Amino acid sequence: MGQRHTIAVFPGDGIGVEVIREAVKVLDALAVKTGAGFDLEYGLIGGAAYDACGDPFPAESLEMALAADAVLLGAVGGPKWEGLDYGVRPERALLGLREKLNLFANLRPVNVYDELIAASPLKPEIVQGIDILIIRELTGDVYFGRPRGIRVENGRRIGVNTMVYTEEEIRRIARVAFAAARQRRKRLLSVDKANVLESAQLWRDVVTETGREYPDVELRHMYVDNCAMQLISRPAQFDVIVTTNMFGDILSDEAAMIAGSIGMLPSASLGERGGMYEPIHGAAPDIAGRDLANPLATILSVAMMLRHSLAMPREAAAVEAAVRQVLRDGYRTKDIHHEGAILVGAAAMGDAVAARLLSIG
Ligand code: NAD
Repeated sequence: MGQRHTIAVFPGDGIGVEVIREAVKVLDALAVKTGAGFDLEYGLIGGAAYDACGDPFPAESLEMALAADAVLLGAVGGPKWEGLDYGVRPERALLGLREKLNLFANLRPVNVYDELIAASPLKPEIVQGIDILIIRELTGDVYFGRPRGIRVENGRRIGVNTMVYTEEEIRRIARVAFAAARQRRKRLLSVDKANVLESAQLWRDVVTETGREYPDVELRHMYVDNCAMQLISRPAQFDVIVTTNMFGDILSDEAAMIAGSIGMLPSASLGERGGMYEPIHGAAPDIAGRDLANPLATILSVAMMLRHSLAMPREAAAVEAAVRQVLRDGYRTKDIHHEGAILVGAAAMGDAVAARLLSIG
């Protein structure tokens, strides 16, 4: 009998519920295959929680998340809750989880599977073999810096935000990035705007200093504007990219599009302990409840959870291999479908991945 792991599962709203169902099928198959034990604790967040108790992030859900080895999340939001006050909007739950679990590192791998090259808006020769890991700092920078606000001075309005990083904040995200690069092709690119911003100069200095602890990893620096261009013109040069909260927000969405469908991209948010795993997409109210969602982003998020929070790298690789095999076998949900492929819904896609997981060595 393997070790037991407690996972707090928050399906959330819209297709969140559907993709989590498929991810759980894959966890169940893994338990059968390996004897590992997963204790799933289901909780409410987002619009579903607001409807049940008037709070998108109830105290019981926070307790569940704090007590678990990892958090697996679907998505939150939808038109039903759009008119609510900002303080009780479903999205508050995500910010609450990040804050309370102190999740300061957001990891977004961008892989272009050979089978899905046609789904990318870029030319095949540019995207072939793309395997990038973007690491975004998640709890600092201009999104949280003070002072902030809009004030009136001499009869005119002035908007202020403060871009600020402490060296401790930079060092801890840099260490996550160097450690990740060490597990991969040992190349780290740090992205900043040190030519005009002092906080970015400190970022560059501290990342460089931290690099001395990782002499086996090759460190390069690039300005964010240049990186935005190069992600489209020559994405194959990148291995691990580490950057600040705001630059990471923008660059990670740009990089996500290289892969073609938002339904393929997983993510991990890591803190000092524990982690939260979710697809990068939202609740997709336009397709919710119709078995049209692509569950692969969530299934690949499970693989990240196995690797980063549950110390199960072999099992993570097995889940990723099962996803690859399903794509090789021609199964496609509507968002990645092309002529000649086998069109399936979310449930059949989940079944196919679970079946491959059980059958491959
Ligand atoms: P979205 O990601 O939900 O959807 C964008 C488009 O991508 C839609 O056309 C949708 O059908 C499609 N799509 C998304 N995921 C898909 C999947 N797995 N398979 C196939 N197609 C998929 O973004 P949106 O429409 O801007 O937002 C909808 C709601 O979700 C809003 O309330 C928003 O606030 C919320 N949202 C939540 C999260 C989150 O929970 N992390 C993230 C983004 C948006």
